[in-house]
Amino acid sequence: MFVPAHTLCGTAVAIHLSQENSSRRKRILQILLLAPALHFFLDLWPHWDASNLGSNYLVIGTPAWREAAIENVLGFAAVAWVLWKLKLFKNFWIQAFVLATWAPDLFTSLVLSGRITGAVFLKLQALHLATHSWWRGWYGEVPTFWPGLLGVGVNLVFCIIPAFYLYGIHLNREHFIRYPKRILTATD
Ligand SMILES: [Zn+2]
Repeated sequence: MFVPAHTLCGTAVAIHLSQENSSRRKRILQILLLAPALHFFLDLWPHWDASNLGSNYLVIGTPAWREAAIENVLGFAAVAWVLWKLKLFKNFWIQAFVLATWAPDLFTSLVLSGRITGAVFLKLQALHLATHSWWRGWYGEVPTFWPGLLGVGVNLVFCIIPAFYLYGIHLNREHFIRYPKRILTATD
């Protein structure tokens, strides 16, 4: 899935979870397990991604690399803007959760480029690959117009859903969201 879809869904879920007064242990478990699971859940939906451009996104200057670079900048700029707007910019837990929802893409890049080889990361890479493999054949290597458009649309749907949720929080910040006191005092 596009990086903005991963990071915006991650932000929405992280903010939703931050409403409860969780223990530190519970938050760490959410970051280690729930956040990567959210990544895999999104990748299971048949979608268009940079690898469909037919070039290697790890090779600097290729169309896929450029696309991946734009996605990453957009994905993190969107999160920074949302957290700033909601006055949650300094919330470490939310940032860590969002980073963990994106982390499988980082690990895959590092494994594919041979920079890391640890067994855990290889397993994570295999799992990540598996989420794409059940539908990959539908598109072909480089999707033609209509499948490509549909695949882009799937990405956009998963940007729009969290955007609606986050906008709702923005509109009802004082009433709807029960920010734990320590989050408010840490950021306001
Ligand atoms: Zn992924």
